[in-house]
Amino acid sequence: MSQRFAVGVDLGGTNLRIGMVSDDGTLIRLIRAPSPTDRTPAEGLDVIRDLVQALVDSTGVIPEAAGVGIPGPAVDTEGTIDMLPNLPGWRGVPLAAELRRRLSWPIVVENDANLAALGESRWGAECRGLDLIMITLGTGVGGGVILGGRIWHGALGYAGELGHMTISLDGPVCGCGNQGCLEAFAGKAAIVRRGCRLRERWGGTVSDGCGAEDGELTPAAIAEAAQRGEEWAKETLDQTGRYLGVGIANLICVLNVGTVCVSGGIAGAGELILAAARKEVLRRAFATPARATRIVVGRLPEPGVLGAAGLALTRVS
Ligand SMILES: [Zn+2]
Repeated sequence: MSQRFAVGVDLGGTNLRIGMVSDDGTLIRLIRAPSPTDRTPAEGLDVIRDLVQALVDSTGVIPEAAGVGIPGPAVDTEGTIDMLPNLPGWRGVPLAAELRRRLSWPIVVENDANLAALGESRWGAECRGLDLIMITLGTGVGGGVILGGRIWHGALGYAGELGHMTISLDGPVCGCGNQGCLEAFAGKAAIVRRGCRLRERWGGTVSDGCGAEDGELTPAAIAEAAQRGEEWAKETLDQTGRYLGVGIANLICVLNVGTVCVSGGIAGAGELILAAARKEVLRRAFATPARATRIVVGRLPEPGVLGAAGLALTRVS
């Protein structure tokens, strides 16, 4: 059987990534551009069409379909965009229908975190698996749930908001308004706050200011310091990993997936954060699934683009 191809589009608030992907998960070529979110939707859609066309011309490959990832839920089969903080002004745009009109291929629209999870579950060297949870540690804590090789949406499309499960009754207030969400313990601001506090306590590097707002300390800088062996940074990652582990233990109790894939900037610290998470999982979840669940770092390049193309190919086959 001949090889099949699809285009994967990751329409972020800042960056636009468009890739040509084959059905074995090979990213043949990737185009990066600023996200056209400051344009009107009609102009922005024309920009995407032109970039996709340039990709088709430069690869000489004819795709069967395209998948588009957006930073929020797609509310219907036309891929209509709801109110998204990163795409203001695009509310109500039937993205799939509008792109289909411009490209004349089948178009699917899906939440970007769900697509990244799907990409990892199909083609991730570490994370591959039919039953998988992906947790992305970034500014927020996002995620996706793959069951039986398919994205699990839930009744209204809100499944996979893993960062907003409560892990502490009286924990800090989360950006969503709830108290004690996983994101309030393992999101970027929480990690930086913890790092600042511990750096002061350990008497390590002196900084002029400390806090999420000083912009000086970042999760990546903490990860680097931990890799250099600085104790305050190792302790920061250890504590963060424990909170992550509480969340993962809850997910294992509910879903008993085979693989938990952790990605995002801080996940680059690898074992420095996952070892603590695993220990916490073993303390809290039933022993058999706790021991059997693989908790690994997702390292697939462009999982969102690959997942978008993968979903598009599945829908048209
Ligand atoms: Zn929350």
